[in-house]
Amino acid sequence: MCIRLANDLFLHDDLRAHRRGWTVEPIRNGTGRRYRDPRWDRLSECSCCVGAGYRGIETCPSCAGRGVVDALAAPTEPVPAEQSPLKVVAERLDLPPGAPR
Ligand SMILES: [Zn+2]
Repeated sequence: MCIRLANDLFLHDDLRAHRRGWTVEPIRNGTGRRYRDPRWDRLSECSCCVGAGYRGIETCPSCAGRGVVDALAAPTEPVPAEQSPLKVVAERLDLPPGAPR
């Protein structure tokens, strides 16, 4: 009875998850659900910047500042060095070039 009620309650969300290609895993004896987008499996930490997205104050060229890489996605366009958010902040703080940061 309880599982049947849960199935009715989750029907809308289960169908929406299937349309999106997500996996649906019943949990708590069928009274709950765990939804997961399998695209997460394609993501991994960027080995160039170890997930930081930056190398010094420059945006990481391998992941374009995201810190993660998608195994199936086309290569990302690197952020131009002059638009690197940390570099812009450094310029606003008026730090002299070459100053320790
Ligand atoms: Zn990176």
